[in-house]
Amino acid sequence: MKNEFNLRHLDVKAFAKGQMHIEGDTPLAQLPRLREDCVGDATGHVSWAAQGAIDVGQDGKDAVWLHLEASAQVPLTCQRCLSPVSTELEIAQDFRFVADEATALAEDDESQEDLLVLSPDFDLMGLIEDELLMALPLVPMHEACLSEHAPTSEHDAAAGLAEKPNPFAVLATLKTRKQ
Ligand SMILES: [Zn+2]
Repeated sequence: MKNEFNLRHLDVKAFAKGQMHIEGDTPLAQLPRLREDCVGDATGHVSWAAQGAIDVGQDGKDAVWLHLEASAQVPLTCQRCLSPVSTELEIAQDFRFVADEATALAEDDESQEDLLVLSPDFDLMGLIEDELLMALPLVPMHEACLSEHAPTSEHDAAAGLAEKPNPFAVLATLKTRKQ
């Protein structure tokens, strides 16, 4: 991959000030946390693009922004038939960078965009991997398996995964039992 940026140590502010754009293809093999959720050889790539910008933030002053897009086709395990299912992951997200954790926490509720702490040494590939991990389906399944209605034990197991009981509801049940 030829580019003048170090994707693991990006100076976000300089990137945004320059209105810079980078894009690339990264082998799944270089994203170990995402690779771990894949089955088989996982020889695929993640295609991604990042655009920096300076634009107004919450306080009306100039802020550092990053727009990130990425897509990948990852082999996951179908939770019904347990064979590999090629699953499309796609993300498109705006990030605004703030001075510190406290500001991020304070402004998070009112912000449409995701907030991150400004760094001259930002791990862009790490962020791409984080976002793709969050885009993973809870219960990966072939479309044919999903539409099949015949109840089987695997199907029931998958349905159980999809409808995890609310932990607070479980807690309430436990409390009731104690009384
Ligand atoms: Zn299946």
